[in-house]
Amino acid sequence: MKTSIETYRSTKIIFLAAALVTMSLADARTIWFVGDHHEQLTYDAMYCADQLMPNEESCPPRPEDWKGEIDLSKVGLGKFTLAHAKNAVRYPDDPVRELRWWNLPGLVRWTWRIAVDACGSSDRIIDVKNGLRCSSHYGPLQFLHAMEEKENVEPEVTRNKMSAWITFALDVAQNKSNSEGVAFINQDYCSYWLASDSAIAEFMVPEADEFPCVKKGDPWTLGTIFSFDCRFKISSCWTDSDEQIRRRAIGAVLHLIQDSHSQGHSARGGCCGTTKTTDLAKFECAPIERFFVYKGQDRDRHTAADKAPIAGSSCNKTTEIHGPVLAAAHVLRMLSENVNRNQIVDYLNNHVIKTHVEAGLSSSTIGFDLQ
Ligand SMILES: [Zn+2]
Repeated sequence: MKTSIETYRSTKIIFLAAALVTMSLADARTIWFVGDHHEQLTYDAMYCADQLMPNEESCPPRPEDWKGEIDLSKVGLGKFTLAHAKNAVRYPDDPVRELRWWNLPGLVRWTWRIAVDACGSSDRIIDVKNGLRCSSHYGPLQFLHAMEEKENVEPEVTRNKMSAWITFALDVAQNKSNSEGVAFINQDYCSYWLASDSAIAEFMVPEADEFPCVKKGDPWTLGTIFSFDCRFKISSCWTDSDEQIRRRAIGAVLHLIQDSHSQGHSARGGCCGTTKTTDLAKFECAPIERFFVYKGQDRDRHTAADKAPIAGSSCNKTTEIHGPVLAAAHVLRMLSENVNRNQIVDYLNNHVIKTHVEAGLSSSTIGFDLQ
């Protein structure tokens, strides 16, 4: 009897999960959930980084059977393999690691909150104390996806947040020690952000007297936000190893590069007012003309822009702005040489997240108007 009740319960849970996932396929936000485009772009970049000399400006196609890795031993991370890349590059989509077929409670929770309930969004403010899952998809941490939270924001404001996030993620990845010999990821999270003049400090710690600065248990360190692995309980998520935390920070940088080339996140090369839905997945090697706001966007058009990326004609020639594969390859190569993080940030500011001189204010429409 007990067994049959349990079987009934688990069948019900599986059915519920399947129903939620099915709904999410039509509705999920900014997730390349059906495809594995983030992963494939990252593998292409790894192959390119393996081949690339510092000033080269194009990437050779990756052989299908390539099983290589990037040597990150100069930053103390050893080999960065395809399996590491797969785990790391999905971080912004799944910052507390719930999107796993074997993590049923997490999968149901993620799907419910993001795809069905939209984090209860409407007019609520969703910041870090509501969790990374919601604040990065519907709140002020949308810069993780190269998007803006609000309408009519100056493009430089959004770009500065993206640049600040890249700077922080690279500091986590490189994990240098401060003058007292404390490794970056072990430094106190709240003291760091409260003293910081970074463009994202106010979003990382919205209030000094609230979560995560006031909480039960150990205080957050700078590595904490890359460490979650949530299965049954949100409050007792498992913690990853230091290496895993640092690799996920690298994944966050690569993901930002890739999302900045999705036309539903950051419009480039004349997209998207009159662009046909079938052409939205083309990325262009041109400066960013507008950052989009997800709330209010037509979801079918957004999903079309998140389909398998294809290089637009502007990427066939040498350009100041690099496409998602070449740019990520340069970052991986620079990390493998352990160059100063400012050099990597400068590269990305000038060759990836650069805005057009006539870039417009953030918008949820202009090519993505609700039908
Ligand atoms: Zn994303």
